[in-house]
Amino acid sequence: MEYVLLIFIFLFGTVIGSFLNVCIHRIPKGLSIAYPPSYCPKCGQRIKPYDLIPVVSYAILGGKCRHCKEPISIRYPIVEALTGIAFVVSALTYGYSIELLYSLALVSSLMIISFVDIDEGIILDAALIPIVAVGIIAVAVDPSGTWQYAALGALVGACIIGTIYILSLIILKKEGMGIGDIKLMAAVGTLLGWQRTLLAFFIGVYIGAIAGIIMIALKKKDMASEIPFGPFLSIGTAISWWFGYEFINWYLFLA
Ligand SMILES: [Zn+2]
Repeated sequence: MEYVLLIFIFLFGTVIGSFLNVCIHRIPKGLSIAYPPSYCPKCGQRIKPYDLIPVVSYAILGGKCRHCKEPISIRYPIVEALTGIAFVVSALTYGYSIELLYSLALVSSLMIISFVDIDEGIILDAALIPIVAVGIIAVAVDPSGTWQYAALGALVGACIIGTIYILSLIILKKEGMGIGDIKLMAAVGTLLGWQRTLLAFFIGVYIGAIAGIIMIALKKKDMASEIPFGPFLSIGTAISWWFGYEFINWYLFLA
């Protein structure tokens, strides 16, 4: 794709990311995502449109509310920039195709799921619905798509996390992963199919383990503390969705 178009897709991603921030903030609290317009969570002052430019406004305002000068969480521009980057990777991976639309919907949902899990320790059901919807549309639209593809993907996704869930309860006497993680990987499975869902899981566990070791080393967490797994499963899902088949083919070629 041309650079101009990729820049446009990045900017579009940051605008969607700005909306995802609203979703992340409001949906768990049961608030409307449409009304009221954006306001400062500290002073309640309505944010002017010229202060709502993704990433840029945060930098111009020096990370502070124009009205009350309270600091604005760095999370907002991070979510915006990450969404922009995920949109660009989606465009580079899938080009002009219907899969690009699936990709944008998937990464947007994963963004909400990850940050709500970090904040609240729950996997938001509402954010799983678009993923399953895309999975169903994908098999319905694609002439070579089959219901077995989606069903088997969901089954493998649910079973692999379900197995860990049950083993943790028996061996560690605690929930290693939550019911939410089971639902997440089942939803993802409808779109990714069983092979890429397995790969997503392994990438997620791998990155999660590395992140856990780093956090323990930095003394941010100890061995007993619970680290939400949704973000890692989401990262694994995105990587597997983008590059999974290439990776699997390369691996099978080596073997
Ligand atoms: Zn304020």
